[in-house]
Amino acid sequence: MKHEETMLILQAMHFAADKHRHQRRKDAEASPYINHPIAVAETLCAVGLVHDPVTLIAGILHDTIEDTETTGAELELRFGHEIRTVVEEVTDDKSLPPAMRKQLQIEHASHASERARLVKLADKICNLRDIVHAPPAGWSVERRRRYINWALAVVNEIRGTNADLESRFDELYAEADEYLARAPAI
Ligand code: ZN
Repeated sequence: MKHEETMLILQAMHFAADKHRHQRRKDAEASPYINHPIAVAETLCAVGLVHDPVTLIAGILHDTIEDTETTGAELELRFGHEIRTVVEEVTDDKSLPPAMRKQLQIEHASHASERARLVKLADKICNLRDIVHAPPAGWSVERRRRYINWALAVVNEIRGTNADLESRFDELYAEADEYLARAPAI
């Protein structure tokens, strides 16, 4: 990897860590939020064998616009137009009610660029892993089941993007499905 690309990846980590610094994940331990975008980028590389810096950086930055004060213009200035576009593609419109946002993700998934589809796959993989191993505190079995089924509906729209990521998702879906079937209903 070229020096500039390595630098940009490290700068994206620094930027995302700073933007998410006051946020925690929803698990019982309230893990630092930044663990999630790092896991998404790592999954892209380790599972999907994705080495394209634009995709990896978009993975690191994928929740900055949606969950922090970051703007698209700010990302463009720091990381360029391509990265801004991918992050915007994976950003939900927070002015819409949650149920509609979830429905739109299903409807829009197949129209997303390849890079955005890769980030979506890695994001869903990481979220499914969390549903089993570090579930959001207070989420009932029913709510977790609704979540995994929704993630499956999104992934079903983008199959054919990356076989390794898709089979990893399917393994985790099966694991989550089995786990939730055995879990005592809260
Ligand atoms: Zn995410």
